[in-house]
Amino acid sequence: MTTDTIVSVASNFGFTLAAPIDPAGIDCKTTVRADCERCKAYGHSWVCPPACGEIDECAARVHSYPHGVVVQTTGQLEDEFDGEGMMETARLHGEHFREFYLHLRETYKGDAMLALGAGGCNKCPKCTYPDSPCLFPDEQQSSMEAYGMLIAEVCKDNGVPYYHGRSTITYVSCYLFK
Ligand code: SF4
Repeated sequence: MTTDTIVSVASNFGFTLAAPIDPAGIDCKTTVRADCERCKAYGHSWVCPPACGEIDECAARVHSYPHGVVVQTTGQLEDEFDGEGMMETARLHGEHFREFYLHLRETYKGDAMLALGAGGCNKCPKCTYPDSPCLFPDEQQSSMEAYGMLIAEVCKDNGVPYYHGRSTITYVSCYLFK
């Protein structure tokens, strides 16, 4: 599939925006990775730090992909305190991301694709880390933040809008391809 085809197909999966990105230009930052240490998933999942690898390893992985597509789901909130609206948009984005991921997996096997979501892996009720290997290595999904990506910067550097107006919230993920 060409990047343009992937962008075009993404709209069938409920995303409000999809656009090409250049993985070579993505800066994987130690400062973003440092924020992971404050998350409750830190040290409790195969796809989160430290199990997902040092930031240099993650950067090398990202830069090994010549093509990429960023996807967004934007929700309209009643106001800035609309927690239900935020959670609903997050849920919808997670659904879109997973369904498109499964669709792309039919073409892109193994490391031919790296999918980075908005948040850690929630495939299993409880991650097997660190007691036994990942139950679904082909379906596990790390996050853009775990790879040190600053979402706003990735969007800006690729000419992709991220802010969509007052009382909106936007969740972002990406798929990188070989
Ligand atoms: S698929 Fe399951 S075991 Fe593997 S990283 Fe995700 S939650 Fe953990």
